[in-house]
Amino acid sequence: MCASSCCEDQATLVKTIANDQSYWKTFRDNFLTHSSAHYLRAVAQLLEQKGYARVTDVARQLEITKAAASQGVAILKSRGLVCEDEARMLSLTDTGRTLIAAIERNFAVLSAFFEQILDVPSEIARADACKMEHLLSPETAANLQGLLEAIMEDSERRASLVARLRDLASPLNKGGWEG
Ligand SMILES: [Zn+2]
Repeated sequence: MCASSCCEDQATLVKTIANDQSYWKTFRDNFLTHSSAHYLRAVAQLLEQKGYARVTDVARQLEITKAAASQGVAILKSRGLVCEDEARMLSLTDTGRTLIAAIERNFAVLSAFFEQILDVPSEIARADACKMEHLLSPETAANLQGLLEAIMEDSERRASLVARLRDLASPLNKGGWEG
């Protein structure tokens, strides 16, 4: 009785999620766009490497024009993530620092998960992690990290899981899974 009602709940939930029209819309309302995340990371990296960051440094770091960097940094400032002093030196606010730490953690967890568990080539794992790094919630990131650590703790279990995934995924990779 319980099992069947759980199954029904699950089925309803899956159906609701599949039919929900709101998730893709809220994607656009994400606090930080992907490019903003990279502008923020550039500022953080410059501060760490050089001890200072100006708009010109951000432009050079990201290989973009100064105008584009200026526009990107202006968005970060308007969001309260970056400050600029009279000497045009940029610094991270507490919120900016917290956010960049979360994004960097997301990237590390996602790329490790894709590469170590899903057995995806490093380059693809890193590219996919880069695309998702600013979107993952802290809750999902924390649980994904927990799962990653739990699997990595046991090398035999990891190896058998990867082997199983290879078997399961091979028809998909060949594109022949529908016959
Ligand atoms: Zn990225």
